[in-house]
Amino acid sequence: MPASMSLRWILVAATLALTFPAAGVRAAESLVVYTARNEQLVRPVFDAYTKATGVEIRYTTADAAVLIERLAAEGRNSPADVLMTVDAGELWNAARRGLLQPVQSATLDKNIPANLRDPEGRWFGLSVRARTIAYAPSRVDPKQLGTYAGLAGPEWKGRLCLRTSKKVYNQSLVATMIAALGEARTEQVVRGWVANLAAPVFANDTALLEAIAAGQCDVGIANTYYYGRLVKERPDFPVRLFWANQGAGGVHVNISGAGVVATSRRAEAATRFLEWLSAGEAQRHFAAVNFEFPANPSAAVDPLVKSWGPFEADPINVAEAGRLQADAVRLMDRAGYR
Ligand code: FE
Repeated sequence: MPASMSLRWILVAATLALTFPAAGVRAAESLVVYTARNEQLVRPVFDAYTKATGVEIRYTTADAAVLIERLAAEGRNSPADVLMTVDAGELWNAARRGLLQPVQSATLDKNIPANLRDPEGRWFGLSVRARTIAYAPSRVDPKQLGTYAGLAGPEWKGRLCLRTSKKVYNQSLVATMIAALGEARTEQVVRGWVANLAAPVFANDTALLEAIAAGQCDVGIANTYYYGRLVKERPDFPVRLFWANQGAGGVHVNISGAGVVATSRRAEAATRFLEWLSAGEAQRHFAAVNFEFPANPSAAVDPLVKSWGPFEADPINVAEAGRLQADAVRLMDRAGYR
């Protein structure tokens, strides 16, 4: 090896030693988070962690699919320690591809209910989002409402709005319906929904809720935090939420959550970060910034969110949404749900 070459290797080794101190020598001073959650939602929480612990959080924001491909492509060279996404279906995909490592943490196991985390400890829900029925109170008596399946009934012909089936939220909803009702019955329901559509499927939940407000349709299915954002801006927004499937399996809930990246050299520090996110003020704040529900049942709920009242949630493990996602996509395609 020429002298200049070996000098370069010494420099590389020295740099690596600075970047990745040996475990136990000193605490990690920074963590790298790949996050599919918007910057404005995570930044205040990351800043609070740095303030509390001195650990700097560096992060990259992109769609979950992009981040997952990037982790896979980077392999052992990935700088990432934590993957944060919305929807269990995405975390399930990352875990299935071997991109997340199992974490043993009594704190996480205590703080996060078992149905909101991976049974193998590769990811943990940090906030809960409910996907339920929204309706126009001027045209719909809530007594007419009941279940997601009920929206397939003939009384809703030309009155239903849905978001595109391409969105993972609807794939997860239909996946959990398959788990509860079976494929044949679920397909019947989805066909009924399609037959009842008042308009082509919407690109996002906000447009769907606006369509209900504008009278384009009377009922729809949406995540409650989109409703929260609209109501915060316009307290007289003429749409209401109805808790679906009460006494019939419960409202479909999903999570936003995180896991420790398989190749992270700072897994201990990454685990401490997730533990911090799972409790106390961080947990309240992580949910409240987006009008979601804390995953930790002991954390305080945002007053606006609380005003929607209590509900029974589907107790199914959200991992099922991942396991049955491909079946759900095929079913929706067969049923003509675009
Ligand atoms: Fe969303």
